[in-house]
Amino acid sequence: MAVVQEKELLCKDFLSRPKQLLIDGKWVDAVSGKTFETVNPATEEVLCRVAEGGKEDVDKAVKAARRAFEVGPWRKMSTAERARLMLKLADLIEKHADELAQIETLDNGKPITESRYVDVPQTVETFRYYAGWATKLEGETINANSNFFTYTLREPVGVVGQIIPWNFPMLMLAWKWGPALAAGNTIVLKPAEQTPLSALRIGELALEAGFPEGVINIVTGFGANSAGEAISHHMDIDKVAFTGEDKTGKLIVQASTTNLKRVSLELGGKAPNIVFADADIDAAVKGAITGIFFNQGQVCCAGSRLFLEKNIHDEFMAKLTERVAKLRQGDGLDDKTRIGPQVSKEQQERVLSYINIAKGEGASLACGGEAPAELKKGYFVKPTIFTGVNNDMRIAQEEVFGPVLAVIPFSNMEDVAEQANKTTFGLSGAVWTRDVKKAHKFASHIKAGTVWVNCYNVFDPAVPFGGYKMSGYGRELGKHSIELYTNIKSVWVNMQD
Ligand code: ADP
Repeated sequence: MAVVQEKELLCKDFLSRPKQLLIDGKWVDAVSGKTFETVNPATEEVLCRVAEGGKEDVDKAVKAARRAFEVGPWRKMSTAERARLMLKLADLIEKHADELAQIETLDNGKPITESRYVDVPQTVETFRYYAGWATKLEGETINANSNFFTYTLREPVGVVGQIIPWNFPMLMLAWKWGPALAAGNTIVLKPAEQTPLSALRIGELALEAGFPEGVINIVTGFGANSAGEAISHHMDIDKVAFTGEDKTGKLIVQASTTNLKRVSLELGGKAPNIVFADADIDAAVKGAITGIFFNQGQVCCAGSRLFLEKNIHDEFMAKLTERVAKLRQGDGLDDKTRIGPQVSKEQQERVLSYINIAKGEGASLACGGEAPAELKKGYFVKPTIFTGVNNDMRIAQEEVFGPVLAVIPFSNMEDVAEQANKTTFGLSGAVWTRDVKKAHKFASHIKAGTVWVNCYNVFDPAVPFGGYKMSGYGRELGKHSIELYTNIKSVWVNMQD
């Protein structure tokens, strides 16, 4: 079996080191002295204990970030030096790619092939992409009135709080650090309590790269009544970037009213993945699988509602279930594993409870529908598909965040056009067709921040990502994320004699 053996575990040293908070360039215990466990979801074993930061630790981190922003060398550094630090961090992440991939798989459960060939390289590319932006930020001169010389300055926002989820721990860090650092902000990051480890290892690499003290601070810990809430309420944080559940997003917005800090949100989704009869069916079957089962369905843009045109429904389902039966489920450290465990017991229970809800609503189970009996340990759920789903059912409206696909048949263009947008979310959608006109019509019709045509889950650091409706606001990636992390100042100079 190709499971990574104990002796090949490159992250053994890291796991045995103390897991402290990164504040002002130093590793420190939480003020309370508290720690919490982080667990391998494939084995249910405790990987290590991690410092449990709280309000006092966030206060310390914000002070350090404020000092680094106002008076530290960071402010005076040329943008080229800033870019070089970011490139160095990217190089160090690449150098430690195998170790970081193992850390991510152990902490999150995802297959090692995904950590190693998706999460780590995309993290590296995101830092490289934004390193390029550091030297390209510009203001403008405006010919408004000849009596005045008018120009704009593009300035960093200041101290930014970043609260990230557990589904792509390392990649979400990169999406948030990349533009924040390129624009010259300082950071207080709170990783998710389920997956704090890769951020701590990248924190070590950031110190090795030479980021000045206080520019990057990491406070591991919990959300409600703890470090997360302390960040969202903080009076001296200028902006909060959040990725997570919609109900947490609402709390973040409410908390932002303390000092009216800027907020950007990337929340949930219930993406329509629409297959027309004229599509390349085999490609669409593969796309449906990637759309819902990648990362165990723990993806905010998962294609969780599969709309199939009625006349291809049966053929499509036969091909889909045949392929899904072959997906190998097991410990993510095994390089043959395609589906790992859910991140936690809580998530496993949540997914299983949605499976029961779907059964109760009258949807038909085409495959899966339970935890695999042969896997005695770990928070696994079999890849699950329901057919005969009606778009109004809870299974079609609520975010399951697991490997559960709802298949909804449709009869014509008008029918699916209406149903696709009948959701409170609007993060993404996809359409499979050989008809160019139909593809573009749908791309413009779907109320979502990303539409994939004849593909699914394609990403690039240069292409913006974010939500319509209750999937949040603000766009990450691309130049649009630079907007989130900069302020524009207009300067008027009186030129009159
Ligand atoms: P999930 O339920 O899938 O874990 P959450 O939205 O609860 O998603 O978590 C995403 C991130 O938000 C995590 O880092 C978590 O600790 C943090 N978080 C949770 N609740 C709050 C809160 N009330 N205030 C600030 N951060 C929070």
